[in-house]
Parts: sequence; C-alpha cells; structure tokens
Amino acid sequence: MSDKILSLRSNQPSLMRYLDSYIRRAHTSSKQLALLVVQVKRGQEFGALFGYRSIEQLMEQMAARLSDVCRKDDRVMRIGDHEYALILPDVMNEGHAILAANKILRALSIPFEVDNHMVSMGASMGIALFPDHAGQSDTLLQHAELALSDAIRSSAPYLMYRDSTPEKLAGAWDLESELDTALDNGELEIFYQPKINLRGGLLAGAEALLRWRSPSRGIVPPNIFIPIATRTGQIKELTWSAINMALQHAAAWPTRFGPLTLAINIAPSLLVDETLVRRVADAMGLWSAKPNRLILEITESAMMDNPDISFETIRELKNRGVMVSIDDFRTGYSSLANFKYSPASELKIDKSFVMNMLASKADANIVRAIIGLAQAFDLQVAAEGAESMEILRTLAALQCNYAQGYYISQPIPANAFAQFINEYVPPVF
Ligand code: C2E
Ligand code: MG
Ligand code: MG
Repeated sequence: MSDKILSLRSNQPSLMRYLDSYIRRAHTSSKQLALLVVQVKRGQEFGALFGYRSIEQLMEQMAARLSDVCRKDDRVMRIGDHEYALILPDVMNEGHAILAANKILRALSIPFEVDNHMVSMGASMGIALFPDHAGQSDTLLQHAELALSDAIRSSAPYLMYRDSTPEKLAGAWDLESELDTALDNGELEIFYQPKINLRGGLLAGAEALLRWRSPSRGIVPPNIFIPIATRTGQIKELTWSAINMALQHAAAWPTRFGPLTLAINIAPSLLVDETLVRRVADAMGLWSAKPNRLILEITESAMMDNPDISFETIRELKNRGVMVSIDDFRTGYSSLANFKYSPASELKIDKSFVMNMLASKADANIVRAIIGLAQAFDLQVAAEGAESMEILRTLAALQCNYAQGYYISQPIPANAFAQFINEYVPPVF
C-alpha cells in the first residue's frame, strides 16, 4: 500500500508540470484546454470487497479505455486511488468538452472483467476549462475537483465547474434587472437535449432548454431565472424569443435522421395567454416549420389547474399541427375523468421516477403504470432522466416510445447539438 501512496503522490507534481506546459501552449492559441477529473463510482466499496489487486486490474482497464477514446494530444494520468485526470488541449468550446465527456462516460459504462466477473462500475466527472474557469494549473485542478464533488453529491454523471454550484449563484444578485439586460443583450441561449426513439434507438428530436450566459456570473440554470421571470412577467418576452430562436436553429439541423421534433417548454401562465396560439403559428410560418415537428411541453399541474381553457388552447394548437406534451407527469393532478378529455399527444414521465426505477420497485411500478395509462389513452410516452443503458433497455422493454437523459447526452449548446446529430451512433438494446 505504501508504494501506491508514493506513486500517487509523485503523480500530482507531474500532472501540474504537464498542465503548466499545456497552459503555456494554450496561451498562444485560440483554443481552450479542458481538465477532466474522473472518479470510479463506489471505488472504495469495491476495493474493500474485492481487494487491492482487483481494484488495480479495474483501474488498468479503465486507463486503457480512456486512452482509446482520447485523441493523440490528449493526456491521461492517474491521480488518486480511484481517480484519473484527462487533459484535452484542443477544445473549441464548452460544448466540445461536453461531447468528449459523454464519449468517455459511455466508454466507462460498459462492464469490466475483473477476476472472471463482469462488473459495472460507472464514473463521475468534474470539468474545468482554461481560461474560462481558471487561469492557472492549481486553480484549474481545484475547480475540476470541486465540480467532481458536486457531481457526486447531486448524482449528475458530470458537471462543468461553473454549473456546479447553482445555489451559490442565487445569493444576493439583483436578478430581475439583470434579466432585463440579459434579454436586451441576447445573453439567453438555448441548449438542446437529444430525445431518442426507443424502437431502434434513432434520434427523434430535441428539447430546447434555456440557459442564461451572464458575462459576470457564467451560465445560470433555468431553475433560478424562470421562477423570477414568471413572477415579473418577463417570461412572455423570454418565451417568444426562445420559440423563434429554437425554430431558427431547427430549420438548419442536419437531416441525417429525417425531420426531428423540437420541444419547447411553456410556462403555466402562457397557457392562458390568448396570444399564444397566434404567436406560435406566426413563428412557425416565419421559419417554415413543418406540422407535427413542434412540441410544446406544459406541466401536468398547469394543464389541470385550468382544464377548460388549457384543453381549448391545446385543441387550437393541434389544429395547427403543434403537439402538446404533458411534462413532469406524476399522475398527481389529473383525475382520470379529466384526463380522458385531454387533447395532448404525449406524456413525459417525471425524471425522479425514471432515475430511480432500477433501485426502487415502487418507482418502477409508477413508470410502468404511466406507460400503461398513455397506451390506454392512445398517447405517446416519453421518459426523461435516463441515466444508464440499463434504464434505456428497461424502458424499451416496457414499450416506452421515447427517452432522453444524461446517458444519451446532457443538454448541449446549439452548435454542439448540430455536431451531435452528425456523430450520433444509436445504442444497441
Ligand atoms: P424540464 O422541462 O422537465 O426539463 C428536463 C430537465 O431535466 C432539464 O433540466 C434537464 O437538463 C434535466 N435532465 C434531463 N435528463 C436528465 C438526467 O438523465 N438526469 C438528471 N438528473 N436530469 C436530467 P434543466 O435544463 O435544468 O431545466 C429545468 C427546468 O427549467 C425544465 O424542466 C423546465 O421546466 C424549465 N425550463 C427550461 N427552459 C425553459 C423555457 O424555455 N421555458 C420555460 N417555461 N421553462 C424552461
Ligand atoms: Mg420539459
Ligand atoms: Mg420534465
């Protein structure tokens, strides 16, 4: 064991040396450098159960897989008992680093053979970028480690340093007035999360998810600014511009998988706005969007708070070829009596059930029941929160129609999504 500690300690300085030299190079190029820190999930437990030799076998196989997915100039280094650091020197943008993270985590999700047993380990990852998140090697490593510990705590497969502590962002900002400036200055950006068809695994479409790229704060997640925008009424302007931006992006998506659907979230207050249908129709006309390609996601609670008006609006949208999906579906609000009149096209199962469906029998039963309900009412059913291949397989076996989740990809910037379409390889169920 003492040898091991020595070798680990001796690796930290060499990581720093490499980082320093890579950073010197990055200074003179327009590219960014990404530092990824990867930790095996439950490594300690595994070591305690199977012993030191087994964990070493596992780490060696892991290193081999990491080098396989890395490019020529990337560097992989062991920096802890259950931890590797990866330096990726030629990263164009954050989206690029996210694509690499997805590729790496997918490679590590395939079971390893240790002592003639197949073991599924999985990994967590923290990412920090030079120069965006830190200007020096020690802070870059510190920020990647911080993102890793936040990823582990929040059960996210990976976190980018600046997304990793949203609560800290909220603090004392004067968000309302900053949000006004954000709208004026075009700081709101749309990320896309791919949605796949579980029959065959082909790409089916994407969900547009807003991000606020604040020059002073970095990326602000929607769970912080959407509630504020809803309270102040800024949500209307924000949604109209999101619909237009997303339709404009979608018009230029590569056609490799045929026409893809575009899902946009609509806040409850807009469902009763009498200009909604006209604005959506105008935007579709402007960007030549085809019928049955646009999906508006509204939450189950919003629809059932005011079923008469909501159903009427959904019917009008449907007449114009726009589908409606009931988001965050938990069967909490809809009585079956109401539900049978709902003109929605799709149910989207709340991610809290899907994420836990392998560990919790109760959650698995709820997922199964919602799929059954959708089938009984002739609705499509989608699952969000698919975080592993096993969940995808289980959902496919239950005849769930669509899935999205971190296993396929986290939400990624528009340019990275266009690249994702071109590079996507369907999983084998
Ligand atoms: P949502 O519409 O239910 O979106 C799904 C959320 O689940 C997204 O969070 C997505 O990143 C996250 N997610 C997807 N797959 C997984 C997974 O496998 N594991 C985990 N842990 N999470 C996963 P995000 O992007 O932070 O958005 C949060 C919410 O903010 C959205 O929930 C939506 O209600 C709201 N939102 C986002 N953009 C807009 C918008 O343009 N308008 C409105 N009104 N709301 C928006
Ligand atoms: Mg949604
Ligand atoms: Mg949802």
